[in-house]
Amino acid sequence: MEPRADDVQELHPATLCIHAGWRATPEKKDVVVPVAHAATFLLDDASYRAMLDGRVDEAEIYTRLGNPTLAAVQNKLAALEGAERALLFGSGMAAIHAALLSRVKAGSRVVAQRGLYGSTWDLLENFLRPLGVATEFVELDDPAARKAALAKGCDVVYCESVSNPALAVADLPAIAKDARAAGAITIVDATFATPMLQKPLALGADLVVHSATKYLAGHSDVLGGVVLGARERMQPVYRWLQLAGGCMDPHAAFLLDRGLKTLSLRMQAHVENACELARFLARHPKVERVLFPGLESHPSHGRARTLLAGPGGMVSCVVKGGDAAALACLRKLKLALEASSLGGVETLVSAPFNTSHARLTAEQRAAAGIPPGFLRISAGIEDARDLVHDFEQALAG
Ligand code: PLP
Repeated sequence: MEPRADDVQELHPATLCIHAGWRATPEKKDVVVPVAHAATFLLDDASYRAMLDGRVDEAEIYTRLGNPTLAAVQNKLAALEGAERALLFGSGMAAIHAALLSRVKAGSRVVAQRGLYGSTWDLLENFLRPLGVATEFVELDDPAARKAALAKGCDVVYCESVSNPALAVADLPAIAKDARAAGAITIVDATFATPMLQKPLALGADLVVHSATKYLAGHSDVLGGVVLGARERMQPVYRWLQLAGGCMDPHAAFLLDRGLKTLSLRMQAHVENACELARFLARHPKVERVLFPGLESHPSHGRARTLLAGPGGMVSCVVKGGDAAALACLRKLKLALEASSLGGVETLVSAPFNTSHARLTAEQRAAAGIPPGFLRISAGIEDARDLVHDFEQALAG
């Protein structure tokens, strides 16, 4: 029997990861969600009625408009996030684009956090600005700066709940409250935290986006994105999905569902390993600084304790000797892999100076909180002792 909606609310996250969205029944005996590869479905009276009434999302007509595999995974994600509705996209950027475009038009104003993920900044600055959507980038956690920016008028406040790569934890309740008072909606990229550590909708956000490529899928083998929110708020997002396309492929949705089943376990392991690595690096004489919300030294430590269920699986550090020394350490790692992206089972390490922030000058990077020697580590779920040993030997050379 499929868990009823009211039961689902009472189930715990680890259970929802496995059982929400799809249940085998005597009529549908597949224990795992079947992949509906069909691009199109047989039409009947109900589908024609749905088309006439503008309810294409409620009928199985055509995969860009809706697909049973995607629907099952969307329902699982909605249950995990505490959202009324979720929509899957082909990548995190497609999801972010749809979330923003569901609300802004020429003449709209966005107030966004400084230091966003590079492609989101690029989208706002170099794609939407020429279309007439102006974005002001501010220190959103600074109440005075936030209020001053909102006072100039605002349609969307955009932020990441845990920032990349400084791992600052956003003051979401205060940001969402001020945004609402100014008549704006708050869109939160919750990729780093996942619903296992925080549910931004419960803290006042209006829409949540994730790059499902990262922790949600968890195995560095599928691209995806999701937007979540209240049913009414999601309707324009659905229109954007319907008209701009960018829906997720059903096979990718199956892989995402398989990843989601272990999300709860994986997040615990990511967090434990990140804590071990952060503690080790913080003691190491060749490491100048460690940025990890689980350490008391991190500026967001207090906020992480109150707003997150754990400090997350990302650790940033500054290696003494600048970018050359950081790169030398990176190249000596034997287990951890030199790659961009994050949230996979394997530990991935990259240096912002030659990846996400390569287009900035050294001064601009320093202003963005990325001094020379900066490394970003996505702690995988290997044995922590092997990871610590790997970093020990890489730093020793
Ligand atoms: N948001 C964050 C915080 C990210 O780190 C990324 C990718 O690294 C994205 C969004 C974009 O996701 P995708 O690569 O799935 O389009």
